[in-house]
Amino acid sequence: MFGFLKKKLKESVEKISKIVKKEEIEVEKVEKAIKEEKLRETKEIVREAKKGIPREIEEEVVKIKPAEIKEEKKGLIERLKRRIKEKTLEEKDLKEILWDLQIGLIESDVAVEVAEKICNDLRNDLIGKSISRKKVEEVVKSSLKNSILDILNVNSLNVLEEVKGKKPFLILLLGFNGSGKTTSIAKVGNFLKQKDLNVVFAAADTFRAAAIQQLEVHGNNLGIKVIKQDYGSDPAAVVFDAVEHSKAKGMDVILADTAGRSHANVNLVDELKKIVRVNKPDLKILILDALTGNDVVEQVKMFDEAVGIDGLILTKTDVYDKGGAILSAVHTANKPIIFIGTGQDYKDLEEFNAEKIVENLLS
Ligand code: GDP
Repeated sequence: MFGFLKKKLKESVEKISKIVKKEEIEVEKVEKAIKEEKLRETKEIVREAKKGIPREIEEEVVKIKPAEIKEEKKGLIERLKRRIKEKTLEEKDLKEILWDLQIGLIESDVAVEVAEKICNDLRNDLIGKSISRKKVEEVVKSSLKNSILDILNVNSLNVLEEVKGKKPFLILLLGFNGSGKTTSIAKVGNFLKQKDLNVVFAAADTFRAAAIQQLEVHGNNLGIKVIKQDYGSDPAAVVFDAVEHSKAKGMDVILADTAGRSHANVNLVDELKKIVRVNKPDLKILILDALTGNDVVEQVKMFDEAVGIDGLILTKTDVYDKGGAILSAVHTANKPIIFIGTGQDYKDLEEFNAEKIVENLLS
């Protein structure tokens, strides 16, 4: 999952590590030579070790004067040791790497401003800081982890807890055609049913006859009742019926399908607003197809402006290699991802776990 983004992050960690790491020279030998005030020998050791020596250490040693070695023995040893073990990164060391990272993130569908945030966080964490040559990978990874977690950890939403707070609980599922809306309704229905909740589907996509049939197939497979009216009927009325049915039968949750829409479907957007006005759903969840890439940003904006959304389900993460849409969607919506779709079966739904995603990205 998200192999492409993972690769881009890995490349940056490796490039920065390469600058910082470099082989350590034999500290003890240098220390001994200095202690014995053997300046020529100190320089010799450094010169012999050649390639493995960071440039600034060589410079430091070359600068030493015979008088200094006497007076400053201790300070000098400490300074050299520090230089050998640590490296202070400067803007010029990172400029190109940060730029490559930014481009790599954008290529992975990360929105430009999100890519900029990640690079700025990394710059602030690294520049001017003395970094242990041995721990550089850890430091870079941890900076990237924190930055990405910061994006993903918007106020989380626990559907199970929400659902248990009100009966019946109405969830409206929104999204473009083909985003995986109907499949996700079935998966969420299955998830809630397994938690011993009584679920009803409302077939409120009355715009496409096939949508009603599709939901009925899922309902039959899962043993979940589907409340429907004829093709072309008022979707607000279908949801209303489903709520009345649930009240009468003591059902816990209504999952309402809606017609897929885009900017161009002004009527459908108005219809969606009517469904919301009439039925006042407890949650409005937007289904996003990860394969849409950075275009998820536009979809989020459109639905949020039209009716306001409370959370997201990102589908098809199993076949989406780039990975960045997940960051773009959360950042734009400032709303949590509740579930991710990980396949075509009913069981292929995972509760969203930011830590797990970030661990995977930087493993
Ligand atoms: P809708 O038009 O938004 O209702 O979309 P559907 O639910 O009919 O899904 C469109 C296609 O995407 C179907 O072939 C689904 O099997 C597939 N699909 C939905 N979710 C996932 C997912 O998480 N992973 C994969 N691989 N396919 C999915």
